[in-house]
Amino acid sequence: MWDFETDAEYQAKLDWADTFVREEIEPLRLILDNPFDVNDPYRNALIKPLQAKVREQGLWATHLPPELGGLGHGQVKLALLNEILGRAANAPMIFGCMAPDTGNAEIIAHYGTDEHKRKYLQPLLDGEIFSCFSMTEPQGGSDPLEFTCKATLDGDAWVIEGEKWFSSMAKHAAFFIAMVVTDPDDKPYRRHTMLIVPSDTPGIEIIRNVGIGGWGERTDPKAEHAHIRYNKVRVPVANMLGTRGGAFVVAQTRLGGGRIHHAMRTVGMAQNALDMMMQRAVSRKTRGRPLSDMQMVQEMVADSWLELEQFRLLLMRTAWRIDKFNDYNKVRADISAVKVGMTGVLKRIADRALQVHGSFGVSDEAPFVHMILNAYHVGLADGPTELHKSTLARLLLRQVTPCETTFPDYTRSIRLEKAHEKYGAVMREHGRQ
Ligand SMILES: Cc1cc2nc3c(=O)[nH]c(=O)nc-3n(C[C@H](O)[C@H](O)[C@H](O)COP(=O)(O)OP(=O)(O)OC[C@H]3O[C@@H](n4cnc5c(N)ncnc54)[C@H](O)[C@@H]3O)c2cc1C
Repeated sequence: MWDFETDAEYQAKLDWADTFVREEIEPLRLILDNPFDVNDPYRNALIKPLQAKVREQGLWATHLPPELGGLGHGQVKLALLNEILGRAANAPMIFGCMAPDTGNAEIIAHYGTDEHKRKYLQPLLDGEIFSCFSMTEPQGGSDPLEFTCKATLDGDAWVIEGEKWFSSMAKHAAFFIAMVVTDPDDKPYRRHTMLIVPSDTPGIEIIRNVGIGGWGERTDPKAEHAHIRYNKVRVPVANMLGTRGGAFVVAQTRLGGGRIHHAMRTVGMAQNALDMMMQRAVSRKTRGRPLSDMQMVQEMVADSWLELEQFRLLLMRTAWRIDKFNDYNKVRADISAVKVGMTGVLKRIADRALQVHGSFGVSDEAPFVHMILNAYHVGLADGPTELHKSTLARLLLRQVTPCETTFPDYTRSIRLEKAHEKYGAVMREHGRQ
């Protein structure tokens, strides 16, 4: 059964969310530099009432399964909501589903002790604290086998030494989940362990917070991505998540969801770019006619719509398959395909929207440069496009049996012979053979 409709009750919630994001959340970006400082009364006066409204609507942290206090809405409904949240940078935080907290919460829910859940998971789910995922290193992020940040056992503590790079949100986080080398001599994918590191642990040094794309100089509140040095940072052995050497298994718990959630919000951002492109096309005149009369502009609109709808369908199908199988392993190929697709879709649509807006488009009065950079962000975070293309291809090719004859069975003459074998009697009866 194929069905592309949203049930009326949930559609009403989505309509509420759409108005709420446009009217209440979008303006925040212009007047609130640091939305993550939970001790700032100005920030709290703006953010907390909005979070309360989201809770009243039953839309808070809807990604969570019922056993964690969520509604168990599943990925399809989340995708529809996330498209709306993708319009505004602060919306995921106000709806209790921002990265990297969602993925970190998933890890603790799966692998944490009762104490971890009380101390870290509950406040995270309640939106009282933020967290950080500290994995990538300065010398290489795509290949964890290049990692050198290590932890050694000393009595009942792990002692962490080394550097991490692009640990987003570190400066706001109450705790980090750090992936460190604990067993360098073991098999390649058994060398790393995940540890919870409370952010007030002595020895954590933020060398600098790095901004992206010319924004966010070192002192700018928008510089969010920390280069961190762990100087003999001691954490109790009890802070281990999963087994010793089991970090790759743990990482998969968060990455599947994280990737698809980014993609859902990317659809929202790309749709926003397309909406603006179309509005500009029908509003701006050149040679006495609107830009929308120009065929090359029409081509930009048509291509953008087509690419976005194709991508959206792939994404929704993937979300549906995650709900159906409830096992990220069974949808790895689909998730990699979505991960590959999202960068290009956003990059191309934001690029065309910028072009149609001319000088206004390139200026900082318009959001397109930021959107294009965001396309690079989603293309890199959680693994670069090339890696996911390669994963997708490998998973597809794994299902294919090699042909043992020189000429494959789709060779015309071989197929003809088989057709004769199958329908020979009828052919003879009608004088065709
Ligand atoms: C905005 C943003 C936020 C991030 N937040 C976090 C975070 O919170 N925590 C965290 O740990 N990390 C974070 N990252 C880091 C992210 O995970 C890495 O950027 C990513 O894994 C790639 O690693 P790298 O940047 O070191 O690139 P490299 O590993 O140096 O790769 C550079 C390029 O080489 C090519 N390449 C690499 N491997 C292959 C391959 N196998 N085949 C073909 N080509 C390849 C690709 O073109 C790739 O883009 C963030 C990144 C960004 C941009």
